Amino acid sequence: MTRSVRRDQVFRLFDTEMLELVEALSAESAARGFRLCLVGGPVRDLVLGRPVGDVDLLLEAPGQSREIAAELARSCLPEAVKVVGYGRFGTARLELGAMKLDVALARTERYRSAGALPTVEAATLEEDLFRRDFSANALAMDLSSDAGGTRMPLIDPTGGLKDIAERRLRILHDQSFHDDPTRALRAARIGARLGFGLDRGSRARLRRALSEDVLAPVSGDRIRREFEKVFSDPTQGLDPVLALRHMDRWGLLKAVDPGLTLPSDAVLPLRRFGKAVSDPPWSSKRLRSWVVGLSIWLADVPAGVRQRSLRRLAVRGEATEQVTGFPRFRSQKLSALGKARGRGAVDGLLAGISEENLHALHAAADPAVRKKVSRWAAEDRSEKIPVTGSDLLKLGLEGAALGQVLARLRAGFLDGELMNREEGLALAHELLRRRSSRASRAQKARTRPKADR
Ligand code: ATP
Ligand code: MG
Repeated sequence: MTRSVRRDQVFRLFDTEMLELVEALSAESAARGFRLCLVGGPVRDLVLGRPVGDVDLLLEAPGQSREIAAELARSCLPEAVKVVGYGRFGTARLELGAMKLDVALARTERYRSAGALPTVEAATLEEDLFRRDFSANALAMDLSSDAGGTRMPLIDPTGGLKDIAERRLRILHDQSFHDDPTRALRAARIGARLGFGLDRGSRARLRRALSEDVLAPVSGDRIRREFEKVFSDPTQGLDPVLALRHMDRWGLLKAVDPGLTLPSDAVLPLRRFGKAVSDPPWSSKRLRSWVVGLSIWLADVPAGVRQRSLRRLAVRGEATEQVTGFPRFRSQKLSALGKARGRGAVDGLLAGISEENLHALHAAADPAVRKKVSRWAAEDRSEKIPVTGSDLLKLGLEGAALGQVLARLRAGFLDGELMNREEGLALAHELLRRRSSRASRAQKARTRPKADR
């Protein structure tokens, strides 16, 4: 089992500008007798040889005030670096242009009651590692030390390396799930992502915690955030179905709502959506993946369970409507899209729907409809036609009639029936002429004396 990581591999995690900051911080930490460490997820991923997501740094400065990380950064970094201190947890955020880097303070956390936010104090690295969720996440590397030469020794006070080698997540003390029940949701997600199980002792502790209903006092926002990550983590190789299956088997879904399950009909669409998150079939602006994930997943649970679960997860506003409306939307759109002939007809059915609904529909559709949806999303929706609303205004069209003619022209262009602006305007004229003659026939019918009708 490896007990160190190559130094160049570690420093490759930072781009040139960031590396300069990290080196300045390391040197200043060493000069003051502190340690600056890489910690948690990135160390675990380096050991596993997996791509590293976000980089987590930790400053060990026991006995210091919670402002120390920010103070140290201000003292040694160029003025161009903006330093924001978050006193409650002792974290300092460094910003240089678009680049952001968080330096957390090694700390202890004491929980006054289950599920409550902890009180925080500066502590040693080891103490900080022991308050973490799982041993596999309780590893560190001292960036401010030269010891080890070309290799950097791993700091592993909790036996995390052995657990990584045996592919399991293990909590660090018996009350861990009581202190922070969201760790159980993390275990399901991180375990699914890494292909790790939950070790037997931790499983037993989780059963006990759930039998004491530890999730009940946890806020909906905190629980929802864990589900949000289930649907954004596919970028890091997570299959959301696996994470939800762990949650189901471990009794976590039941703890959110007694009727909540992972319906078998949701499995394939959810897996398909997971693939779409890691390898987008089209480019999406501001996609809220979790809204898509919840829409697909909850579409196949009973409506009452869906409503209660959304309330429990404190889902609010537009997201609630999107998830609640999806089952109906799905059946209407899938059947209409199945029958739609031509790109214009598809455009008419999909124009204006939210990005979340579009993805959820795509994931739920059969291959033929999926193709229609993705072609529309990737190509047709951004297609500009050479006739505009103001052209039609000039012809005297307005309101709903203008919208209908424009939609008809758009369909004509997408279907290849219209080739250029002249043909578009000619059809607009023709449609307008037909409208006027229909209108004048109707007018005549109305003004004819009653006896003639
Ligand atoms: P990812 O690759 O998803 O970022 P990560 O393990 O880095 O995985 P983060 O959510 O970034 O996860 O958290 C950073 C570190 O903080 C974790 O590795 C873990 O050590 C610790 N941590 C996070 N959440 C908790 C928690 N609820 N309880 C205890 N420790 C936690
Ligand atoms: Mg992380």
